Amino acid sequence: MAHYLLLTPGPLTTSETVKQSMLQDWCTWDDDYNIDVVQKIRHDLLILATSHQGYTSTLLQGSGTACVEAVLGSAIGNNDKILVIDNGAYGRRMAEICEVLKLNYHVIKLDEVMVPNVEDIAKALTADIGFTHLAMVHCETTTGMLNPIAAVAELCQQHSVTFILDAMSSFGGMRFDIGELDVGFMISSANKCIQGVPGFGFVIAKQTLMKECKGKARSLSLDLYDQWHTMETSNGKWRFTSPTHVVRAFAQAMKELELEGGISARASRYATNQTVLVEGMRELGFTTLLPDEHHSPIITSFVSPSETEYDFKRFYHALKQLGFVIYPGKVSNADCFRIGNIGEVYPEDIKRLITAIAQAKYW
Ligand SMILES: *Cc1c(COP(=O)(O)O)cnc(C)c1O
Repeated sequence: MAHYLLLTPGPLTTSETVKQSMLQDWCTWDDDYNIDVVQKIRHDLLILATSHQGYTSTLLQGSGTACVEAVLGSAIGNNDKILVIDNGAYGRRMAEICEVLKLNYHVIKLDEVMVPNVEDIAKALTADIGFTHLAMVHCETTTGMLNPIAAVAELCQQHSVTFILDAMSSFGGMRFDIGELDVGFMISSANKCIQGVPGFGFVIAKQTLMKECKGKARSLSLDLYDQWHTMETSNGKWRFTSPTHVVRAFAQAMKELELEGGISARASRYATNQTVLVEGMRELGFTTLLPDEHHSPIITSFVSPSETEYDFKRFYHALKQLGFVIYPGKVSNADCFRIGNIGEVYPEDIKRLITAIAQAKYW
């Protein structure tokens, strides 16, 4: 069956070899799995995340949101208070989690298409000295906006606030060192820039903060401390059934990231994908939602054509026929669609996409 290329921010297009690595069954109790696969992944993730000591990684079943929920629900104590930055659907989701878990939280709502104003965040931290944590998304996948994590990390340090970073869609595809940024908890998942398949996420946290999570969780299966403690003390064993095939695929994806030349090489491929995409789309008459300097290399939002004949669904299906799957828009007050640059996707694929869009653009 002829299949299509996913130009979506996860699940995304994976390599044949990543898919093939799932063609074997693994026993969750066996060292072949726990030590050679799980422990190696935990170790290698740390190396990708930081050159600093004192961090530890935990893998957790579920989608990326499950990991975000595990962090918020396990790290925020009853006497703590968290400031959540909302400049898109994923920041908003963290606020929703706080609401459902009945955490003590405050949200700063910022315009989705403007770079978050660091001054506003600084003011909030100064106005209320009760904040113990701050949560922000790195690449807001809603728009493709790259949030100013270095400036916010500095504010967190100034105010002695623990920085919780949702780097779901950027980790592995962009260079940053969470130790340099003094991040307390960083969250990402298997099916984004590491180019694995969906089924689990991971948290890289300061070991001291992880230990402080003991006994705080509001959920049994999303108890981050317990998950970490079991992995740490039982040689990589997961508390409950682990998604063995998915984890095996992730191990292969990690190997392929290294073969590609590590995060720098991958980041440069994604950036080239994005440049080729934006240049090609502009030649076809499309405009980007964000100015170039705020774009992440991960995903790009394009303003929907103003012609009344334009219909996203029709455009989507025409492109799918030609072998490409794009993504609908998610911005609250702008009509747009999105194209992802991540996954097993190369500049030549983007060039073929531009040709396909020229064909599909029949309105
Ligand atoms: C993908 C993503 C998530 C998690 O989404 P799931 O659908 O739960 O895997 C969270 N935050 C951001 C920024 C994302 O891109």
